[in-house]
Parts: sequence; structure tokens; C-alpha cells
Amino acid sequence: MNTALEALDRLREGNRRFVSDVRGQGSSTDQSRRDELVAGQEPFAIILGCSDSRVPAEIVFDEGLGELFVIRVAGNIVAPSQIGSVEFAACLYDTPLVVVMGHSMCGAVVTTLEQLERPTGNRSPNLQSIVNRIRPSVEGLLETGLQADRDALLRQAIRANIRASVSQLRHGSRIIEELIGKGRLLVMGAEYSLETGVVDFFYGLPEGA
Ligand SMILES: [Zn+2]
Repeated sequence: MNTALEALDRLREGNRRFVSDVRGQGSSTDQSRRDELVAGQEPFAIILGCSDSRVPAEIVFDEGLGELFVIRVAGNIVAPSQIGSVEFAACLYDTPLVVVMGHSMCGAVVTTLEQLERPTGNRSPNLQSIVNRIRPSVEGLLETGLQADRDALLRQAIRANIRASVSQLRHGSRIIEELIGKGRLLVMGAEYSLETGVVDFFYGLPEGA
């Protein structure tokens, strides 16, 4: 079984290939790989990412079929179905690493900030349920004077939202807490840059990693 740090190294390597425009060397999607995977899967990492079309996890980490267990939802929020999905992969496949991957210019965070500044009615309750999960981690930023610098506010809000999702996953269920306590699961946060393609693993990195 691979460890969380081996999994993290592999993600970093894959992202380096992606950034260097040399994708496809480590990933396999052909018929022989499809044949292999019919019997089962052994994903080495779980990614909770945003649904944004510019941030597909398998592509930015240059991975093929059967390697990543990916959960995507606008704003990479944590609701019960995301916690259940993480439990499923961590328990069934012994996957040792969870990365919450947000990204620059995230529309879900932009929408949340806009709504905090100009509350409006008549929103879809479904979209509102996403905004409501992002809001607690970002509303405090509006009182820090950051409002004057829109770009800095958005950057900090995106990172605050990622850290909040990491924390919610870590304490999302007794199953996940136990896996973390036994050293069988690491949950960390990362941000993908739309501008450079680089994934910055900025939160929850173990010492020396
Ligand atoms: Zn997004």
C-alpha cells in the first residue's frame, strides 16, 4: 500500500509534467488499462475539487484511469455526500491521501463575496446551499479592510474556503477522525493556479514533506 507522502509526491510529479506540457507519460487510458480495471480499482489519492471546467483533477495531475478518486462540486464545499464519498474511498480502497483543491478566480467564492456585499433575494435555494457553506469562512475577511483590494480579498477568501473544507472533512465523521488518528489518512489543502497550472499544496503539509 502506498503512503500519503508517496501519494503526494506522485501528485506533485504529475502536476510538474502538466505544467511542462509533457502530459501522458505516466497516465494510461488505453484498452489494456480499461481491461485491467474491470476487476477493481486502487486509487492512490482522493481529490475534492471544484466543478470548474478549467480544473479537471485527472488532467492537472496527469493521471489516467483508476488512479484518482475525484469528487467535484462548485466551490469544493463539504456537505454530507462529500464526507460519505471520502469515507467510501478511504475505507474500501485504503486510499491514504485527501486533497481539497480549490483554485484561483473561483466563481463560487466570487458569488459568495458578492452576495455578502449586496444581499439579494430570489436566488435558487440550491445555489444558495453552496453559498451558505462558503460564507462562514469568508465573511470575517470583509471586516479586515481587505475590501479595498478586490484581488487580495478574493485570494484570501479562496484560501480560507479551502482551509474550512479541510477542517470540515477532518472532523466530518468519526470514521474519518479514526483513520486520521491511526495515521492511515492525511487531509490537506491545495490551490490550483489558472494562470500557471501549478498546484500549491499550501495547507496541512506534514513536516519535511
Ligand atoms: Zn471554482
